[in-house]
Amino acid sequence: MKILMLGSPGAGKGTQAQWIAKKYGIAHISTGDILRVNIKNETELGKKAKIYMDQGLLVPDDLICDLVINRIFHLDVVNGYVLDGFPRTLSQAEVLTAALDQSDVKVDHVIYIEVPDAKIVNRMSGRRVCLVCGATYHVKYNPPKVEDKCDICGGVLILRDDDKPETVRKRLDIYHAQMHTLIDYYNAASILVKVDGTKDIDKVFQDIVKILGV
Ligand code: AMP
Repeated sequence: MKILMLGSPGAGKGTQAQWIAKKYGIAHISTGDILRVNIKNETELGKKAKIYMDQGLLVPDDLICDLVINRIFHLDVVNGYVLDGFPRTLSQAEVLTAALDQSDVKVDHVIYIEVPDAKIVNRMSGRRVCLVCGATYHVKYNPPKVEDKCDICGGVLILRDDDKPETVRKRLDIYHAQMHTLIDYYNAASILVKVDGTKDIDKVFQDIVKILGV
């Protein structure tokens, strides 16, 4: 199964993608997580990406596209994958389609999690991310069992720089500039399904499972 997740930053893509990956036994590929690991490890990619990410800007396509394409043809994704955070622009979508076409592979579902902007800034200031494994939580909607501690690995939970309100507003502006074309692109291919992301996260997951099938 090959799934793409679309939605604004803070729409809940990351959590839903983690749950989908677990339920269906497929790989969860988060471009944001991959970039953050690179930043943490101070790789060349990480150093370049950090400059954009800290400002809430998109990382240039030449840094991200090859990385994703290599990853989705990697061995541990034989059962499929859920791509979280890619594509984010029409050109990224076109690169992805071209790479899949070459191998005669198709995306099965594009899940678009819709949440109005008004809710996003509020949500993101409560988001916490594990520094070690990248798992995401929310202080109100999806709290860890122990405050500021990851349930999965015990790592420290932090508020990401790019989840701070001023950066979130910038990310939303950038998101809106790109997302309409991306939605039109996948609508035209008749594989896009909208999900109401304002509901409780468990309910959102149930709605997604209905789409994907048990
Ligand atoms: P995320 O964790 O998906 O919200 O991504 C965090 C940040 O990583 C974004 O604000 C971008 O700076 C960068 N990023 C992640 N995925 C992409 C992508 N597909 N294209 C460009 N930049 C990306």
